[in-house]
This record gives sequence, structure tokens and C-alpha cells, in this order.
Amino acid sequence: KAVVNRIAAGEVIQRPASALKEMLENSLDAGATHIVVTCKVGGKALLQIQDNGHGIRREDLSILAERHTTSKLRAFEDLEGIATLGFRGEALASISYVAHLTVTTMTAGSVHGWRATYRDGVMEAGCPKPTAANQGTLISVEDLFWNVPLRKKALKGATEEYNQILDVMARYAVYKAGVSMSCKRQGEARSDLHTLPGASRLDNIRAVFGAAVSKHVVPFELARGSGAAGGAADELHCEVEGYISTADYEGKKTQLVLFINGRSVECTPLKRALEASYAAVLPKACKPFLFLEVRLPGSHVDVNMHPTKKEVGFLHQEDLIEAVRTAVEEKLLASCG
Ligand code: ADP
Ligand code: MG
Repeated sequence: KAVVNRIAAGEVIQRPASALKEMLENSLDAGATHIVVTCKVGGKALLQIQDNGHGIRREDLSILAERHTTSKLRAFEDLEGIATLGFRGEALASISYVAHLTVTTMTAGSVHGWRATYRDGVMEAGCPKPTAANQGTLISVEDLFWNVPLRKKALKGATEEYNQILDVMARYAVYKAGVSMSCKRQGEARSDLHTLPGASRLDNIRAVFGAAVSKHVVPFELARGSGAAGGAADELHCEVEGYISTADYEGKKTQLVLFINGRSVECTPLKRALEASYAAVLPKACKPFLFLEVRLPGSHVDVNMHPTKKEVGFLHQEDLIEAVRTAVEEKLLASCG
């Protein structure tokens, strides 16, 4: 049974960056405005995230890492209008099967916090223990895949894994501008990614992608149908906003930072279409940067498709791609004079 669970866990958590994404989403769901990530050996030895969110109540700690335990879904109908990023109750459970998981948390108004460790979906004996804490939650994931040697061996070197963590953080830092985030290697004084409270998205594009990018982007906006408020399922309703580069900033690869209904997702067909547009309008070697937040009616999105939630299925994908592509091309042509 434990082996089966470990394999299932590996579907949700493939590497430190995927564990981080789940934990970051949990912190944001908890209303955190300040998030600090610390890594050792690219997050393989230690991946730690501290937030100042609402914390976890003592009575919820014992079942925290049980599969399908979630505080975010009350009724099946909720699936249609999920506002929070999590809802499956699989992330912490999965992590507890393939790593040492420690949770330290304190809710508002408590005089002390609680600490608990988990293994194979179960809180360990003697937990939770009272402890001094700050309001919010501190989660430590140690020795990822210690009990799945093949998985552990398949991970990349510390630098590569760490860069993937930074990439996840960079995306959320722009999307959730205003929340301050930082990420550093344990023992280093300096953060490798750092954003300020109250910053704008453009501020954070500069802070995490660099001034060369932020100087070459312009705001982008698009709406179709009745927007995210929605309407009949037989046509596209959407709102898109973001920033797109309109000149060569000398990037080495296409950067498409895409959020659909609050989730960081990949959409290869959209990426290809946009690359083609840039190649057609701007000098061929130029690599685009695009940050796009897409909002669709909740009922038009199937968030339940894949355990990693990386791929989101939605209605009228081709129409959306076409609409975005056309609007981006117009913007590029306009800015070329
Ligand atoms: P999900 O996010 O799908 O509900 P998770 O396994 O990611 O499932 O988390 C399980 C539960 O643990 C969440 O529903 C939430 O109640 C709680 N939780 C996890 N991380 C935090 C956090 N940083 N702050 C507050 N609560 C948290
Ligand atoms: Mg979650």
C-alpha cells in the first residue's frame, strides 16, 4: 500500500519545484501577504516555506496530510466556481509519502503555535507539540524522495532544481504582485528573488525578470463576450490582461507566463502561435516576453484534468488562442510605428 501511495505521490510531486508550487498556492490560499522560501541543495535536502497566512487550527492538524483532506471544497457544486488554488487535498499527503514533512503553524489570537511531523499520510505519534511561533505557517520538506531511489536519482543537479524553483516563484511574484516574496539558499544572506509589499506587476517584472524586460513591455488587454462573468457555453467569454514585449530585449528564450483563472499553466499551442506572430512582425531572432492573466467563466474551465493541475482544459481554446494572437499582432504593429 505504501509503495502504491509513493508512486501516486510521484505523479503530483515530481521535483522540488512542483512541491514548492503546491505549497506556494496553499500560502496564497491562506491569504499570506509575506512569503519566504529557503532551499538547501536545490530544494532536494530542504525546501521550506514560511507565510503569514491564517494558519491551521490545532484540530485540523491531525488529518492535514490524509489524502483528499481539504478545507477548500464544501460541496460538489463548488467545483464549478473554485476560487482557491487547491481543492484536491493531495499535495501535503503526497509530500508526506516521499519526504519528511514538518508543519509549524499558529492561528491569529493564539498564545502559542503547534508543530507536527507527518509520514505516509499520518501525523506522527506525540504530535502536535506546542511551540513558539509567528502567526502563519512554516512548512519544511526534507530529503525529497529519500524512499524512492529511482526518483531521487532522476532529479537534476542542485542548480537546475533551484532555477526551476525560482522560475515558479517568478511567475507567482508577478501574478500576485503586492504579496512580498523572497527565495534564497540556506546560509546565504542575499535573496535570489525578492519582491516588495505593495509592488505593482510591472515593478515585479523588473524585480524578477530584469529591467531589460520591463523597459520593453507594454500593457495588454482583451475582452470577448461577457468576459469572466460568462454566458452561454457555446461561445468564448474571456478577459485577458498583462504585459507583452514589443521590442527585442535580447532574451534567450520565449517567456510566456500564463495564468488561467488563477493557476499557473502551460499552453503549448498558444505559445507556438505567439512565437509565430512575433517572428512575423518583429526581427526573427527576437524572443518575446508575455505575462498573460486569462479569466474565463468558472464553468468553462475543467481544473480537474490532471493531478499536477499544470494543464488546464477549457472550452473554446482555439478561439481564445486566435483572439489573443490577433490582439498581440495589432499591438506589435502599432508599436512598430
Ligand atoms: P488543498 O490545497 O487541495 O486543499 P493541500 O494538500 O495542498 O490540499 O493542503 C491541505 C490543507 O492544508 C488545505 O486545504 C489547508 O486547509 C491546509 N493548509 C496547507 N497549507 C497551508 C498554509 N500554508 N496555510 C494554511 N493552511 C494550509
Ligand atoms: Mg494545496
